Amino acid sequence: MRTVTGSGAVKAYRCPGCDQVIGAGTAHVVVWPAAERGGVGERRHWHSGCWRREADRRAR
Ligand SMILES: [Zn+2]
Repeated sequence: MRTVTGSGAVKAYRCPGCDQVIGAGTAHVVVWPAAERGGVGERRHWHSGCWRREADRRAR
């Protein structure tokens, strides 16, 4: 699992955490699974706050 903090989205994405749109220019986090089985993981764009909650949930 890797994350990158985006300084600003260049287009709108939908956050899978809250199902709300991350508007262009909104700082957010890009998350994708560690490369396994040679595949490029599917990137997901999350609000920083939503991802923090999700990461905490997954850690349990
Ligand atoms: Zn969100």
